[in-house]
Amino acid sequence: MQITNMPSGPLGVNTYLVIDETTNKGFIVDPGGWTEKMKDHVMSTGAELEFIVLTHGHADHIMGIPKLQEDFPNVKIVADKAEEQMLGDPDFNMSRQWGQLTRIHPDLFVTDGDTLVCGSIEMHFLSTPGHSPGGMCVYVPAWNVLFSGDTVFQGSIGRTDFPGSSFKKLKTAIHEKIWTLPDETDVYPGHMGPTNIGWEKEHNPFV
Ligand SMILES: [Zn+2]
Repeated sequence: MQITNMPSGPLGVNTYLVIDETTNKGFIVDPGGWTEKMKDHVMSTGAELEFIVLTHGHADHIMGIPKLQEDFPNVKIVADKAEEQMLGDPDFNMSRQWGQLTRIHPDLFVTDGDTLVCGSIEMHFLSTPGHSPGGMCVYVPAWNVLFSGDTVFQGSIGRTDFPGSSFKKLKTAIHEKIWTLPDETDVYPGHMGPTNIGWEKEHNPFV
């Protein structure tokens, strides 16, 4: 499994291109923006993009989707069912504040415990509400990798001062769903650099 970070959009969100090297199928996590350069990079890999996986519906993670879909019309959008309302509402998802009315209608809604296969990569979805109502993390057990969105960052956690946020829910989700993963799990967050579960459990001051 090959992971490339292509920071994008107004806040430079970490947009991950994940490719299964055995089948050359791939998916994108959180395209906050989408540029010709990103398209060229995906084309240069020859990967067949199957999915856009959204950790949550905030504008800085989704505003690249319409352009991405122009370049890759067959790609399917995957999100947590509990994020449906936010994804379809430019005020709730805050895209209006960035001068873009982004309404996203996922092709596939998932919920806690669901799995999805891309090539030989099996994704496990963990619902982690708190930063947003339908926030989720994507765990790939075979590779000990977690895409944590804005749930857990290196030494920090997602903001809980947005509409629909809840610090209490976020804390519970992190304790029950994230800290229970193996210590050696590599964490690829929505912002800032990568980290791992063992380090965060010991050092993260917020939970
Ligand atoms: Zn967010």
